[in-house]
Amino acid sequence: MPVGTVASVKGVPQEIVEELGAQIILGNTYHLYLRPGVETVRKMGGLHGFMSWHRAILTDSGGFQVFSLSELRKLTEEGVTFRSHLDGSSHFFSPESAMEAQIGLGADIIMAFDECTEYPAHQSRLRESMELTARWAARSKKYFEDYKHEVPWNTASGKNLVGTAAIGCAGERQLATAAELRSAGQPKAAVPTGSEATQSLFGIIQGGMDRALRKESAERTIEIGFPGYAIGGLSVGEPREVTREIVESTLEHLPKERPRYLMGVGTPEEIIEYANLGIDMMDCVLPTRAARHGLLFTSEGKVSIKQARYAQDPGPLDPKCACRVCQRYSRAYLRHLYASNEVLAQVLNTIHNLSFYLDTMRRVRHSISLGEEYRFLSGVWSRPAP
Ligand SMILES: [Zn+2]
Repeated sequence: MPVGTVASVKGVPQEIVEELGAQIILGNTYHLYLRPGVETVRKMGGLHGFMSWHRAILTDSGGFQVFSLSELRKLTEEGVTFRSHLDGSSHFFSPESAMEAQIGLGADIIMAFDECTEYPAHQSRLRESMELTARWAARSKKYFEDYKHEVPWNTASGKNLVGTAAIGCAGERQLATAAELRSAGQPKAAVPTGSEATQSLFGIIQGGMDRALRKESAERTIEIGFPGYAIGGLSVGEPREVTREIVESTLEHLPKERPRYLMGVGTPEEIIEYANLGIDMMDCVLPTRAARHGLLFTSEGKVSIKQARYAQDPGPLDPKCACRVCQRYSRAYLRHLYASNEVLAQVLNTIHNLSFYLDTMRRVRHSISLGEEYRFLSGVWSRPAP
């Protein structure tokens, strides 16, 4: 999932993100809550209408950003008080208010409010934090069940406001699916009708780098019951072997028939590795953030386009990449744009990196569809792809 923190995949317009084949993008609740504010987005028909993105959207709960970006936090059982990184104003997030914000933003998939435990942390702190996340998950679900019908693409006022911008948004997609199923002779109750269509609330597994706590967190979260499960609290500074070990052991406790989402990961090699372990969804700012710093992922490894060695290089950034940047521009030109601090450098670099990531995931999906014999590991096929 490309990350569109403030309802924008930085530097790239929605039509190009679509062209690159992204099926879903991520928005950050913390940022959107502070600016432009949930009410503004809700009145525009939710994020789909506001940013004119007709495919799926996932919003995080705001928890991770509150703990990583804001200042002067005060954590209680009830929730967390924090100061905005924009203007220092004071705000309060609880499981209930985080759900209220995410229902108003109207993404297709929303996340339970959790506490992302710092790394490293003592065992007693890890347990307390995991238990708090479990209690907050139950409160998140309760609030969601009580108020899920208020999602903007599902209310009369929302429908009037969004107009044509909402074509293809979640509610309408589900209507189409229902119609398709009915014509195929499936029972009408198989999928929700438009007025019943709601968001999907996913639970988040915490427990730090402790396998037993992760298992307990998984069991408690599954007991509450969610349509999908995320593994949170990783990629917070721990060694990569530890991340892998925790992902692998936590996956054993999560139902295979539900989407399993690893939050905040990773490099191209890592997303291949985790997808092969059984992870279905990942998000990371790396392709977009690295692009803005001139770091590009290619089939030949990482390229730092700022280096003088590319100043007169007429070749494409990645000879194996079919993206519009690699088809048209030279390394020399990309290097010049970066050195001149041109806005276009960020745009073109981001388009290529997103293309490389999405292409990587397409190869992974293809390899999974081919079965056990074909595996796309570390960017290389175990047997030549047919
Ligand atoms: Zn490219």
